[in-house]
Amino acid sequence: MNGLTITINFFYIISAVLFIFGLKMLSSPATARKGNLISALGMLLAIVVTLLNSGLDYKWIVLGMVIGSIIGLFAAYKVQMTSMPEMVALFNGFGGIASMLLAWSEFHQHPEISVFIAVVTFLSALIGGVTFSGSMVAFGKLSEIIPGKAVVFKGQHLVNGAILLAALAGGTIFAMNPAEYYSAFILIIIVALLFGVTSVIPIGGADMPVVISLLNSYSGIAACAAGFVIHNNILIVAGALVGASGIILTKIMCKAMNRSLANVLFSGFGSTVATQAAGSGPQGEVKPATAEDVYYILEAADTVAIVPGYGLAVAQAQHVVRELGDLLEENGTEVMYAIHPVAGRMPGHMNVLLAEANVSYDQLIEMDDINPKMDTVDVCVVIGANDVVNPAALDDESSPIYGMPIIETHRAKTVIVLKRSMNPGFAGIQNALFFSPNARMYFGDAKASIQNLVGEFKSSD
Ligand code: NDP
Repeated sequence: MNGLTITINFFYIISAVLFIFGLKMLSSPATARKGNLISALGMLLAIVVTLLNSGLDYKWIVLGMVIGSIIGLFAAYKVQMTSMPEMVALFNGFGGIASMLLAWSEFHQHPEISVFIAVVTFLSALIGGVTFSGSMVAFGKLSEIIPGKAVVFKGQHLVNGAILLAALAGGTIFAMNPAEYYSAFILIIIVALLFGVTSVIPIGGADMPVVISLLNSYSGIAACAAGFVIHNNILIVAGALVGASGIILTKIMCKAMNRSLANVLFSGFGSTVATQAAGSGPQGEVKPATAEDVYYILEAADTVAIVPGYGLAVAQAQHVVRELGDLLEENGTEVMYAIHPVAGRMPGHMNVLLAEANVSYDQLIEMDDINPKMDTVDVCVVIGANDVVNPAALDDESSPIYGMPIIETHRAKTVIVLKRSMNPGFAGIQNALFFSPNARMYFGDAKASIQNLVGEFKSSD
């Protein structure tokens, strides 16, 4: 090993340490921003050090960096928070195809490789290819370019099993004699791309964010394999970190929905939900409320729990929510924000929104901490949340969300629900909470509705 290689690997270790500390800090809202910065610093160091390698053609690298930076900057400024899952899907897909192409290019230039390198080349192409086409399907579904519903057909598992077997058989033949079997490698790529499509189309509806997280993990594993192909230590470490954190996140999301990963991947959840929605959901009379009604209820409350959901993000109501929270506190009310782990469309979605509006972290209460004291809460204000407060998850065994832990707002003395209509949430099912005797529906866009409430508080001063 020459001096330059030792220096490069020394800085790679520092990058890896920065990645690990950055990831650790991302696990708490209080340190997340710093964690992001530290990880980005680690990546910058890794890139600069990699560029010290000899024999590089800088013009292509600079061109790639310029194009990539422009796309990244544009996406960071333009993409709405509610479209984050789509953006992450695209990024995962690009990561996957990059690993696949890297493995292909290396093999194309040096077909005489050892069995070990052949195996990692195969894994990089297979997992990278699946990640790319799977992510494109996920992107299409989330952005509604293609129908978001699960597409299921008879014998689907058999077809998917056969495709996977074909890929493994191709991989075995290829690894035994790579130089002879260029055609087997091309076949692996085609099969991988096909498998990405056939394995993601049967997943739909509320399960899509879980798939995005799983594909994120795949993109890391593909990058890790690609790191072995080109003997790059930081790619191996970074890929392993992405692979591991993606799978941990997937597990957290499945747990919060009380589902197993196998159930998410193979049950065709989104396809059955549509039938349920058309069927007989909970019925009854709802009690609409005006801004003035809600003002009087809130004005008299000692404790208020605000329960945000996806609609808060759609309405971009986080700043007015905080203003309302401040006014309530000035009025002597104790204000809490109850956070469900899968409220919104990505983990931590509500935390990010409320942090943007400078809501204090101390006021955020997790579902498991608020539920035991729900009976003592005077008013729950449900803002654009639906599935995560649906009591069917607790008591209706026929419900597709049965078993998912919820924020038990129906146990509070009064529940005020802010939404625009009686339309169902992401899972496509009606919510019995809206018909419950202690619930009042305050219809309208969440931001406008809260602005009206803030107006009521201010005009009463
Ligand atoms: P839901 O999608 O269940 O409900 C959101 C509600 O917001 C809708 O009923 C809608 O009603 C209302 N809404 C939309 N826009 C507005 C607006 N401008 N103003 C007022 N209300 C509005 O959201 P939840 O957060 O309750 O649940 C999240 C769902 O996503 C769950 O099914 C969960 O399992 C799923 N999921 C989330 C993941 C995550 O990581 N966060 C991961 C995997 C799945 P209306 O149209 O009448 O206004």
